[in-house]
Amino acid sequence: MTDETTTISGARAHLECLECNRQYDLYQVLYRCPECDGLLMVEHKEDALHTLSATQWKNVFSARMASFDHPWSSGVWGKKEWVLPEIQDEHIVTLGEGRSPLVGLPRLAGELGLAQLWLKQCGITHTGSFKDLGMTVLVSHVRSLRARGIPIRAVACASTGDTSAALAAYAAAADIPTVVFLPAGKISLAQLVQPISNRSLVLSLDTDFDGCMAIVRAVTSADPALYLANSLNPLRIEGQKTVSIELAQQLNWKVPDWVVIPGGNLGNVSALGAGFRMLKNAGLIDRFPRICVAQSANANPLYESFRAGLNELTPMQARSTLASAIQIGNPVSFPRARRTLREFDGVVEQATEEELANAAARADLHGMFTDPHTGVALACLFKLVNSGVIRSRESVAVVSTAHGLKFADSKTAYHAGQLPLRAEYRNEPVQLPADEQRVLQVLHERLGD
Ligand SMILES: *Cc1c(COP(=O)(O)O)cnc(C)c1O
Ligand SMILES: [Zn+2]
Repeated sequence: MTDETTTISGARAHLECLECNRQYDLYQVLYRCPECDGLLMVEHKEDALHTLSATQWKNVFSARMASFDHPWSSGVWGKKEWVLPEIQDEHIVTLGEGRSPLVGLPRLAGELGLAQLWLKQCGITHTGSFKDLGMTVLVSHVRSLRARGIPIRAVACASTGDTSAALAAYAAAADIPTVVFLPAGKISLAQLVQPISNRSLVLSLDTDFDGCMAIVRAVTSADPALYLANSLNPLRIEGQKTVSIELAQQLNWKVPDWVVIPGGNLGNVSALGAGFRMLKNAGLIDRFPRICVAQSANANPLYESFRAGLNELTPMQARSTLASAIQIGNPVSFPRARRTLREFDGVVEQATEEELANAAARADLHGMFTDPHTGVALACLFKLVNSGVIRSRESVAVVSTAHGLKFADSKTAYHAGQLPLRAEYRNEPVQLPADEQRVLQVLHERLGD
């Protein structure tokens, strides 16, 4: 039977060290390999998944995409066997994540000479960023750990604003306490009010993200009843990898030539790779896209590493950037991202503040409302098209990571000419008296005859 209720017996997942390949039980609380301190991945017993043919899986996934039933109505849990096969449905905490739109931008594609250009709108979701995809999995997993008697008093994370919003929302839905560590003054107002509203314990620290990350790692290892929700924890990656599956599904199981994704801590690009890898192993796609990781020039440790051959990453002090969610100088998932870049013939590009702000504003001329991180990705796309790395007639999907409304302040400052950069697409409101003649005059001036 291959209807939407199919579950594959024998589908299992475990934790596996990226460095020494030792395996651990998925229901152990581990953030790094106890033997070698390497990063962990959730690995699946893919043979069990392959008892369904590619065609059968495509049918299952499309039936679930049309379903309103729990848990299939979630874009993440519609891929359950590929994510957390053994979880009980009653432990699943969903806020309707996934199933995000894939929007074509044919006019912009034409301007760039591309065959196709799509924006995968991962920010159109409950808390306004793709972090929901990973957090539904992590918080559901915490529920099943607690049900097994593992004492978890609260879940904690360091954040540049979006992880904390997602954690606070999903944990509140599950009635689990949360603590979030935020770099004071470095996140948007919309991001800050999210965990406050969900009754998180919000700790605003006088440091940057990397400083918060160091504290939360120290605190969660000193107190094992505090569970770590950062993407160091591979459970997050399991949910985020559904982006690749959904993208392929929306393109009728074809892949674009390129996927461009903004990168900070580099969990998301690792997830993107993991999704495509599983799809190809199961025969749902027959080739890989190339991947571009896009970084802000003010927080570009991966870009520097890529230029030096990608063997190692030198942590840096990240400078302030409009793309505040990727203001990270010491990305935790570098080894995972390196694996993905090598396997997907990847490149890393960077964008200046002026480039990212203008790229976001340019996409807005096509009906988008682009956040600065997606602006980084688009600016890098424009640069790679100009330099010929992305060739004309190729197809590109850009992963949009957040909703622009979270960044209304910086977008407003752009159009008001208040940013220290040349705002190419500036558009200011016209202040007028409520006078018909004056209004007609301005309409004539601005719109022509
Ligand atoms: C978290 C985040 C990123 C970066 O994702 P990583 O997994 O840290 O590389 C990019 N954009 C937005 C809006 C984010 O919240
Ligand atoms: Zn190891």
